Amino acid sequence: MQTELRKLPSVNTLLETQELIALSELHGHDLVVDAVRSELELARRKIIAGTKRDDMIQLTQAIANRVASTTRPTLQPVINATGVIIHTNLGRALLSNRAQEAMVQAASAYSNLEYSLEAGQRGSRYVHAADLLCRLTGAEAALVVNNNAAAVVLALMALAQHKDVLISRSQLVEIGGGFRVPDIMAQSGAKLVEVGTTNRTYIRDYEQALDPESLGLILSVHHSNYQITGFTAQPTLAELADIAHRFDVPFMEDLGSGTLLDTAPFGLAHEPTIQESIAAGVDIVTASGDKLLGGPQAGLILGRANLITRLKKHPLTRALRVDKTTLAALQATLLAYLENKATTEIPVWRMIAAKSPTLAQRAQQWLTALKSDPGLSDVTLDIIDTVSTVGGGSLPGQSLPTKALSLEVDSPDALAERLRLPVAGSPPVIARIESNQLILDPRTVLPEQDQPLLDAIKNGLLALIP
Ligand SMILES: *Cc1c(COP(=O)(O)O)cnc(C)c1O
Repeated sequence: MQTELRKLPSVNTLLETQELIALSELHGHDLVVDAVRSELELARRKIIAGTKRDDMIQLTQAIANRVASTTRPTLQPVINATGVIIHTNLGRALLSNRAQEAMVQAASAYSNLEYSLEAGQRGSRYVHAADLLCRLTGAEAALVVNNNAAAVVLALMALAQHKDVLISRSQLVEIGGGFRVPDIMAQSGAKLVEVGTTNRTYIRDYEQALDPESLGLILSVHHSNYQITGFTAQPTLAELADIAHRFDVPFMEDLGSGTLLDTAPFGLAHEPTIQESIAAGVDIVTASGDKLLGGPQAGLILGRANLITRLKKHPLTRALRVDKTTLAALQATLLAYLENKATTEIPVWRMIAAKSPTLAQRAQQWLTALKSDPGLSDVTLDIIDTVSTVGGGSLPGQSLPTKALSLEVDSPDALAERLRLPVAGSPPVIARIESNQLILDPRTVLPEQDQPLLDAIKNGLLALIP
């Protein structure tokens, strides 16, 4: 054993090999030295445990693998073949080309982020997307923060801390990802006052629950990811605005996704638009930037100028401030709406608008390409009718008819795992399993991902064939 240990190369011998010299040039000396030491230590322990000594080639390969796994970003691109368009676990909305370019530009050069070019002095970062937001929604003023959860906390804190906030019992819910309305309310220091019942709430319930002395705000939270059906009742936005204004407090609505485009022309139920809420008299509307808006992660706060001014002055606003690249992407995304190009430019809307024949054609191309592979002649492939969903806390219970590729294999779970964890180089593919078949929906797969997707399926299937 001692002789075997002595036969292991030294750190310097390894570092002087062609492979490791090249690796050091690429990733820096320190990282490679670290990897050499770790692998030599491992090799020693293996010898002591009685395993055969690794040769130089095995050692260099292990060192290269170790460096690769250290330098590989943990955040990596995946192919979303689930058919869930705004997939929260897979990064929600993809940005349009215009938004991507705007982000790169904002990141790579100085900008007038907080500088007034006219006055030659300090300006405000909050002017940047505000005009476009007001123009598109009819709001008097707008403020952008980090995400919608932050927008809700800020608004409650600035407008209703230590005061009563009335909310219907049907809206005291968890939206997902740790956003629970009662917890958010507690965090903001507002006092939650529950109104009505889970299924039915009337204006008179608000009137009965209300104490004019301590009332701070009336809040409505959109049913983003659940439905209340059957024997139900809710006052309209206009009725709620009316009662809030009678008692001289703001009416706030957390719209969740918030959309600028009507979803009905795409065969979906109507998702309330930001414009509708503003027009109905809601004083403060909050929405996400990366759900149906199809932009970067952001929280949009829209509404009355005097209230937005109060929010801007609140100390918490500084802690929730958005990055310049976010503002750049948001502005570029909003411009697409202004120019009526949202359904052609913004990925979320392009995917919603994708038509069945186009989807069928792509699924057919996938099928033909796989069938032409002699190694896969035994695999049962088919095109099936199924549905895609919008996801991301919008349009619960709604779906879009789609054509998907289905693969019938002994263990769809094993294949799904192979697709998620492919051999080095190819991007992971996330699929779904339905009635014991693996389903791949072309709606959420970008056209440039077709070839990597097919390679991944082929490799995955070949690895499972005994
Ligand atoms: C999604 C959602 C939120 C959270 O928005 P983020 O932008 O993810 O912070 C809050 N409220 C509602 C109703 C939502 O649907």
